[in-house]
Amino acid sequence: MRTAVYPGSFDPITIGHLDIIERASRLFDQVIVLVSRNPDKSPFFTVDARLGFISRAIAALPNVSADAFSGLLADYLKQRKATAIIKGLRAVSDFEYEFQMALANKTLDPAAETIFLAAQAKNMYLSSSLVRQIGALGGSIKGLVPVEIENDIQTALQEEIS
Ligand code: ADP
Repeated sequence: MRTAVYPGSFDPITIGHLDIIERASRLFDQVIVLVSRNPDKSPFFTVDARLGFISRAIAALPNVSADAFSGLLADYLKQRKATAIIKGLRAVSDFEYEFQMALANKTLDPAAETIFLAAQAKNMYLSSSLVRQIGALGGSIKGLVPVEIENDIQTALQEEIS
């Protein structure tokens, strides 16, 4: 049983994230999408809200599940006997940070491999923060987030300005 963990803030999950999840689900027996705490960021959505959005977006993928963890990723990997960390790479801007994280995780858990999947060209400039900005300013986020959760995310972001 090969298990991979796809960690991130997912604040909220976008179609860029979902594309990486679908591709990873074809490479591994089991994929866990992990809402993990990033000490450098203060999230907009609560962990429960982010998990709820992810669960609805992955409902059609039988070997994908969602979870949350606030400790070290290396500890979570050992706990779940996962052997791979999935990361999506967009432009060069992701590279430096993700490379640093991959090296740190390799030191903390030498058995785990970080696997980078290249973003699709159409998702290259898509980020959760872009979705939050567009939504909070009253713009449509249609096509940027999974269709099942589009309305709920749009409403939640719009409530912020009203
Ligand atoms: P973090 O707060 O750790 O950066 P994110 O939720 O922003 O978490 O991203 C999680 C992972 O998904 C990262 O590996 C990131 O590079 C990747 N990712 C984010 N947006 C996209 C996208 N549009 N296409 C492909 N991968 C993406």
